[in-house]
Amino acid sequence: MDYDVIVAGAGYGGVTCAALLAIEGKRVLLVDKNPSAGGKVMTVRRGGYGYELWPIAGGPSEDSLFHKLAEVLGEDLDDLIIQPDIAGEYRYIRADGSVAIAEFSARPSLHPEVAAGLPEAFGATDEDMGPLMDFVNYVLTVDVDAHKELETEDLLSGTRRFGMAPYLEAYLFVSLGLAFAAPIDRIPMSEAILTFREMALAGGGRYGRGGYGRLAELAAAKVTACGGTVLMNTRVEQVLVEDGRAVGIRTTAGDTYRARCVISNAGIQPTVLKLTDAGAFPPAYVETVRELEPSLSFVGNRYWLDEPVLTQPMLMQFSDESWWDEERYRRAEAGEWPAHPFLFFAVPSLFDPDLAPEGGQMFMAGTLCSPDPKSPMNQAAVEAVERELFATFPEIEGHAVRKQAYTALHAANASRDQVVPGQGGECIGIAQVIGQCGSTKPDPRTPLPGLYLVGCDAGGVGCGTHQAVDSGFKVAGIVAADLG
Ligand SMILES: Cc1cc2nc3c(=O)[nH]c(=O)nc-3n(C[C@H](O)[C@H](O)[C@H](O)COP(=O)(O)OP(=O)(O)OC[C@H]3O[C@@H](n4cnc5c(N)ncnc54)[C@H](O)[C@@H]3O)c2cc1C
Repeated sequence: MDYDVIVAGAGYGGVTCAALLAIEGKRVLLVDKNPSAGGKVMTVRRGGYGYELWPIAGGPSEDSLFHKLAEVLGEDLDDLIIQPDIAGEYRYIRADGSVAIAEFSARPSLHPEVAAGLPEAFGATDEDMGPLMDFVNYVLTVDVDAHKELETEDLLSGTRRFGMAPYLEAYLFVSLGLAFAAPIDRIPMSEAILTFREMALAGGGRYGRGGYGRLAELAAAKVTACGGTVLMNTRVEQVLVEDGRAVGIRTTAGDTYRARCVISNAGIQPTVLKLTDAGAFPPAYVETVRELEPSLSFVGNRYWLDEPVLTQPMLMQFSDESWWDEERYRRAEAGEWPAHPFLFFAVPSLFDPDLAPEGGQMFMAGTLCSPDPKSPMNQAAVEAVERELFATFPEIEGHAVRKQAYTALHAANASRDQVVPGQGGECIGIAQVIGQCGSTKPDPRTPLPGLYLVGCDAGGVGCGTHQAVDSGFKVAGIVAADLG
């Protein structure tokens, strides 16, 4: 055998798993089709700017799995992890057009000053605070494992029980809709509670010095430092199967590599429906995988400004109409956008000043959208984001010297292949919706012995990149135990 383990894909899930196994002394081959590690979070460095392909910041902020990964890699946490006191602002557009603004911190939102900030800024009355506090207390104390019914109760109904004021619901729904990239009447309470709890107790808005993808680059370097091999710009074409077991990979260049097991970070659907001969799996498994639903995508524009205009690292702007349940999402998909679409933007150099040249500023603005790379919703979303952005910050238009759209097609090109109609450009992976989370989430061990899944499709819980790293830790443990 050439290796103990081949990891196909160096997104945060794959690279975490590869580094941990290499540190344990396993002979690891890590392969990715992209030029550097990070997957969707790959940090791009061009013309003095540094920015991610997409993701912006992570949660939880404190004591996160990113901290744990950095520690395992032997990296200096202070050098790597940035948790700004002011991470950004929420802008809530009321029905009369007036705007309430609340700053938020990357510190825990239950810190008394921070917790009071948003309701105060939004003009909460004592009457509004009661249901909010009931909701917060419930979320912090309920035993999710003991209440299996929370896996089938959706976030919209589960929250409505508390009778919160619409603007507090809107704040919760846009935040959690963004964290999971899914309509909020499809997200299970179980998953929402775990993530809300983490963010409440440990904050959100963590970034990485040198770019959010830098920790992934350091993890890939660790694989090499531990005697493993890292092949970038290398696409896996096929998972090799012999005698009913995954035994290696063949790349598009025609090279084959053999190992005791293969761990795929390429997505469950591409892995099962494209990279591996379908006959290697029970037919019922293949059908279940085909039916899995992708998360939504996140689509918008990057803008380069000829002078720094923005002052906050992040912004979330919304009205009572901006959050999406299934019905609102379908309406937007059909071209009926709300008057104020949800608008999110982030400015990497306001986290780390070294990520922009003197006098310049670059930021990414976007909104949720269909994951289908071919959907006309992509173009509509790019236009809706720009309209809302320029209407809110008219000064930006005159300073934008360059812009670049990013759509579900770009996400698919950099991360996973489209193998099922409507899938490919998903922001997270398979959607964290009822029937695909908790006890119903795909198992990292596939029915094909020797083939495992890592990343947001299996093994982890949480928001975006944090879920990917969680999966990396858990799958490394499973594989290490199986290999003995
Ligand atoms: C627009 C956008 C905004 C987002 N914002 C945030 C955010 O602010 N915070 C957050 O936490 N998360 C965010 N996310 C989600 C986050 O990026 C993902 O949840 C996470 O990065 C997924 O990690 P992963 O390891 O599962 O897979 P991926 O990052 O998708 O990595 C998969 C890797 O596998 C490689 N690969 C695939 N097929 C092959 C093949 N055949 N051969 C070789 N290599 C292959 C790919 O090149 C890629 O490197 C965002 C995502 C998008 C698209």
